[in-house]
Amino acid sequence: MQRNITFKKSDNPKFIADCHLGKLAKYLRLMGVDTLYFPHIEDDDLIDMANNENRFILTRDRSLSERKNAPVFFLEPTDTKAQLKTLIEYYKLNERSAPISRCIVCNTPLQVIEKEKIIDSLPKKVKKYFNYFEYCSNCDRIYWQGDHYRHMMEFMAQVQNES
Ligand SMILES: [Zn+2]
Repeated sequence: MQRNITFKKSDNPKFIADCHLGKLAKYLRLMGVDTLYFPHIEDDDLIDMANNENRFILTRDRSLSERKNAPVFFLEPTDTKAQLKTLIEYYKLNERSAPISRCIVCNTPLQVIEKEKIIDSLPKKVKKYFNYFEYCSNCDRIYWQGDHYRHMMEFMAQVQNES
């Protein structure tokens, strides 16, 4: 499955998900794992980028996984949960997990931001109930540990508890 990949346990793995794995990319980012994703990209560009930036290509595409010099991790499962589980186990992602440290939309590392600086752009309830915020300087998104975050974390917990 991942025979031609060398991966040192001390390294934090970086990924690039192929265009069919957008959902998986989102969850990896949620865990704080550096994961690029482009909805439209040529295989050659994907391979170049992976090699230049020391990333593993995540794919379910057999022909891509058989390309020479492509650092591919071929994912057998079709289901996002099972895909995540495979990666978490193989790359020991639990030990490296850093939730809400990376923008889910664009992969940029987040920065902590003071509430008073963004208070005007927060929904009413959020203003009232949350005090800790992180900010993506690339796409201007603000993150807090609200319902959406909680649902995603529940999903992650399920992934990790299922055998
Ligand atoms: Zn962003």
